[in-house]
Amino acid sequence: MISKDFNPFEMAQAQFDKVAEMLSLDEGTREILRNALREYQFSIPVHMDDGTVKVFRGFRVQHNDARGPSKGGIRFHPQETVDTVRALAMWMTWKCAVVGIPLGGGKGGVVCDPHNLSMREQEQICRGWVRQMTKNVGPLNDVPAPDVMTSAQHMLWMLDEYEAINGAKYPGFITGKPVGMGGSLGRTEATGYGVIFTVREALKELRIKPSETTASVQGFGNVAQYAIKLYNQMGGKVIAVSCWDQTDQISYTFKKESGIDLDELLKITDRFGGIDRAKAKELNYEILDGDAWIEQDVDILIPAALENQVRGDNASKISSKVKIIAEGANGPTTPEADKIIQEKGIFMIPDFLANAGGVTCSYFEQVQSNMNYFWEKDEVLSKLDVKMTSAFLAVSDLARKKKLYMRDAAYIISISRVAQACKDRGWV
Ligand code: NAD
Repeated sequence: MISKDFNPFEMAQAQFDKVAEMLSLDEGTREILRNALREYQFSIPVHMDDGTVKVFRGFRVQHNDARGPSKGGIRFHPQETVDTVRALAMWMTWKCAVVGIPLGGGKGGVVCDPHNLSMREQEQICRGWVRQMTKNVGPLNDVPAPDVMTSAQHMLWMLDEYEAINGAKYPGFITGKPVGMGGSLGRTEATGYGVIFTVREALKELRIKPSETTASVQGFGNVAQYAIKLYNQMGGKVIAVSCWDQTDQISYTFKKESGIDLDELLKITDRFGGIDRAKAKELNYEILDGDAWIEQDVDILIPAALENQVRGDNASKISSKVKIIAEGANGPTTPEADKIIQEKGIFMIPDFLANAGGVTCSYFEQVQSNMNYFWEKDEVLSKLDVKMTSAFLAVSDLARKKKLYMRDAAYIISISRVAQACKDRGWV
């Protein structure tokens, strides 16, 4: 659960402040980077299926666009807050910078729960979001994408609305579009595969064979499913996954010591990444409490659900066997937990590096859309591998040479690049 007193933006700012100090950034640069350049908050009225009108709260935060148009997803979540969106927008700036793509950071959201909305109602929210934001987003200034509980279908409705308002075709307005409608092959796999490209490189550095490792994963949605797929292909074994149970409103961990069967579990998983508990029991999965994923005796932990999941209160339960944590989710680890993980000597692959595969592939989608020429899937994924691997190596090289925690090393690279862009533009 996301606790009420957790503020992801304060956490993102604390992470930034620490590195700003290490880099001795001047006051003006700190001020411009620790807050968003622009923020929008608005209401989206929707005529519901039952004839009533419901008003949903929408957000868009453009954290920084010194290196290129803002880029970032739009999340649908009942507990969405402007501070979550602010934090995620800031992390997007660092993410684009660490992989060296010419984009800035943005994020959007709507406070809503798609579990309880029909597809027509969701379409109205998408179109309403675009009507409110149309003057302030677009291919040259801010390019949205899918995120938690939004999909290619949501992106297509948003694109359709944007093009209807602006009277022309703008395939570069949004990414994560369906394949055949301007989408890129490989986008669905990109984030999860990207996580595993970085895990593969970390294992190489630790001189461990993937086939001799086990992993435990929090979340069983888009990122987790494709991370597990590629990790399995490399010979790794996932023994536990956890996910949210919509009926009970808590999370559970599903464990099989001999290794989960991805295809078998996918058959009993809904489109929100929720696993059917009764059916899992029939398939002989042990069903444990939601936090059990973090306590497993595995080599690799992959938090791939939500922010604020690895905290001071549960990080001490991480097994001494764990060697790598690869953050598939954004902001899963609090600064308090970071200290514990650092003391344990675990190799941390921080979120804005580990999960940068999604935005990198979104950038490829923009490139392909602009050329109106689309690459084969293998080409997309091999280009993705090159970008992720070189970003990982730059960060781990700096971490090794300067004896830094990997998160700090990644921040140093990103913040330096964005600070330089602000300076070169004459902003600071
Ligand atoms: P998703 O909606 O497809 O899946 C989320 C999963 O997390 C589901 O299985 C859900 O049951 C589970 N979950 C939710 N709350 C939980 C809890 N409290 N405990 C355990 N499990 C819980 O989302 P996704 O696209 O896979 O994204 C997951 C994370 O990765 C998010 O933090 C997102 O911002 C981040 N991310 C996603 C992408 C992308 O391309 N999809 C890119 C970068 C970062």
